[in-house]
Amino acid sequence: KDFRNNIKPNWCPGCGDFSVQAAIQKACAANGLEPDELAVITGIGCSGRLSGYIKSYGFHATHGRSLPVAQGVKMANDDLTVIASGGDGDGFAIGMGHTVHALKRNIDITYIVMDNQIYGLTKGQTSPSSAKGFVTKSTPDGAIENPIHPIRTAMASGATFIAQSVSSDIKQLTAIIQEAINHKGFSFVNVFSPCVTYNKVNTYDWFKEHLTPVEDIENYDKHDSKNAMNAIMEYEGLLKGIIYHDENAKSYQEHLDGYQDQPLISREMRLEKENFDEMMAEFK
Ligand code: SF4
Repeated sequence: KDFRNNIKPNWCPGCGDFSVQAAIQKACAANGLEPDELAVITGIGCSGRLSGYIKSYGFHATHGRSLPVAQGVKMANDDLTVIASGGDGDGFAIGMGHTVHALKRNIDITYIVMDNQIYGLTKGQTSPSSAKGFVTKSTPDGAIENPIHPIRTAMASGATFIAQSVSSDIKQLTAIIQEAINHKGFSFVNVFSPCVTYNKVNTYDWFKEHLTPVEDIENYDKHDSKNAMNAIMEYEGLLKGIIYHDENAKSYQEHLDGYQDQPLISREMRLEKENFDEMMAEFK
């Protein structure tokens, strides 16, 4: 099972996104998937190029719109494993409305955010997850706004699988993505993926110093939402590992009678003339 194609990524040397790509490819292979069983849907940004670099079905959506497309793909064809991906600008600014609703809707897809706390593709502006005081060309005196806290937002939005890691730990990232794919519901994976060109603060070393693995927290229980939320608040979201996992929650699809037996792709969608006339009559 090889999820590599012959397209060479044009990310800057050292960009964290290379490892995210490799972790997705390794996780899909380890889960026994074939390329034609996978769809990768991305938004706009450096990370948005990912859908072109993985051997699978793929769609490069417009800015902030990977999630509506990915959810539509999954609802139409439940047999596919669907991964949506993008950056912090894509998912937490223009796409934030979709992110929050996807978190609470719980359609069975995996959403991987490559969070580098800056807009890289447009050459280094402050993003929604940039820290207060962060200096870029768009905030030369330092960012005034508070940053979005992705993990806290995911918990508050009712997510059923929440994990966080960093590009430098490809082993953990691969294991997390494997579990995220296996989770029956919406899986949110926030990956700190350093932008080595424009973000000189949140570097690989910075994350090494600031992230706390959840295994190091005494009595940490990823199945207990209160326990997870307390840790998120205490460590200001700078946790690493599977932070919350509700293994009993029903996915959106599981709530729909008859959906599992007959996803949209296998249904006869042709509209008969009499049905059409009936439908039109309703508008008269
Ligand atoms: Fe990666 Fe930053 Fe280069 Fe974009 S600009 S490819 S995020 S290092």
